[in-house]
Formats: sequence, structure tokens, C-alpha cells
Amino acid sequence: NMKPVQVKLVLLGEAAVGKSSLVLRFVNDEFQENKEPTIGAAFLTQKCRLEDKVIKFEIWDTAGQERFHSLAPMYYRNAQAAVVVYDVTKASSLEKAKSWVKELQRQANPNIVIALTGNKVDLVSSRRSRRMSVDNEDEDDDERDAQELDEDEEDDEDYGISRQVPTEEASAYAQESGLLFFETSAKNGQGVAEVFTEIAKKIPLE
Ligand code: GDP
Ligand code: MG
Repeated sequence: NMKPVQVKLVLLGEAAVGKSSLVLRFVNDEFQENKEPTIGAAFLTQKCRLEDKVIKFEIWDTAGQERFHSLAPMYYRNAQAAVVVYDVTKASSLEKAKSWVKELQRQANPNIVIALTGNKVDLVSSRRSRRMSVDNEDEDDDERDAQELDEDEEDDEDYGISRQVPTEEASAYAQESGLLFFETSAKNGQGVAEVFTEIAKKIPLE
């Protein structure tokens, strides 16, 4: 029976971590460089086809600002799934994600499937590719290479685009808290479909 199973899903996380961008990537396969902040919440739907079932996600994309916090329970109260998003370049956004997870575990449906998602990984993969290109330019002068690499790292700090949340730290936290864990880029699409597919797989057929 391929009648879609409706699944209410809520997105939570600090403002500007990329919640709306993840939804836009999943639903329309698009990205907007300067996405306007969400006011209150936005509602979208998208189907996800698995081998044995079709899931129709009813997605509530909430605003991250603190002044909207009191509205959040309306969106997560009957949710079967939650995507809690942080930004891998901003350590404080993981702390905020952890507080959302605690709130969900206390107040949401006890069977809710929670996915922790570290977004904006496209911003932190540039250092490695730049390092590789430096290596290629100066093949026979190892000492100079090392010096240029040091300077590269300083540049990254200046631009504030270095990774602040190691993958292992977030994934260990997710594991001990019983969450699914992903790293994504709404910008280039990396890992986005997987978040929703893995959630869909964990939703029981009633
Ligand atoms: P929200 O407040 O959590 O819904 O965040 P938005 O989706 O509005 O995104 C906030 C800003 O981050 C926007 O300028 C987006 O274009 C940008 N953004 C979102 N996701 C990504 C990503 O994966 N990579 C990069 N580089 N920027 C992103
Ligand atoms: Mg938003």
C-alpha cells in the first residue's frame, strides 16, 4: 500500500544556522545566498519515497530568534520528527541545539525521531583544498610550504570561517543522546536528502 504516511516534522535551532535553507534545498533543490529570516514559522510539504512506503513530510520551519521561543511547543507538540540544526562554524549554536534537544526530550512525543544536523560544511572544506594547491605549486621546497600553510591558517581565523565544532564531538553527543547525526551543506546540497531519508526510515508504519 503506497498511500503516503503523513509525518509532522519540525526544524529547530539558533537563528541563521540554515534551517530554512535546508528545507528549501530538500523541497525545491535551490539555495539563496541571502535568505530573509523566518518570521514565526513557515509550512512546506515534501514526499520521500522509500522501497516499502511513501512518507509525506509536513514541515514546520520555525524562527530561531529567542522572541519566538514560546511558540515552539505549538510546532513540536505533535511532531513525529525533529531536525535540530547548528552551524559547524559557530560553537555556541551547538549549545543552543543541545538545549532544544533537552526540551524535546522533556516535552515532545516520547517516540519523536530527532536528527542533529551540523550545517554549512561547505565553509570548512576550503582550507584543505587550498592547502593541496599550495603543495602542488612548491613541490621541492618543504620548509616554505610549511610556512605558507601556517599563514593560511591565520587567514582562516581572520575570516572567521574555521570549523568550531569537530565532527567527533557532535557525533559522540548525538550517539549518547540517541539522536541521528548528519553534517550538511544547504549551499551545495551535501548530506541534505540523507537527513530526511534516514528519518523516513525510522518512522514506524502504523
Ligand atoms: P535560519 O535562520 O536557520 O532559517 O537560516 P537561513 O536558512 O535563513 O540561513 C541563514 C544564512 O546562512 C543565509 O544567508 C543563508 O544563505 C546562509 N546559509 C544557509 N545554509 C548555508 C550553507 O549550508 N552554507 C553556507 N555557506 N551558507 C548557508
Ligand atoms: Mg529560517
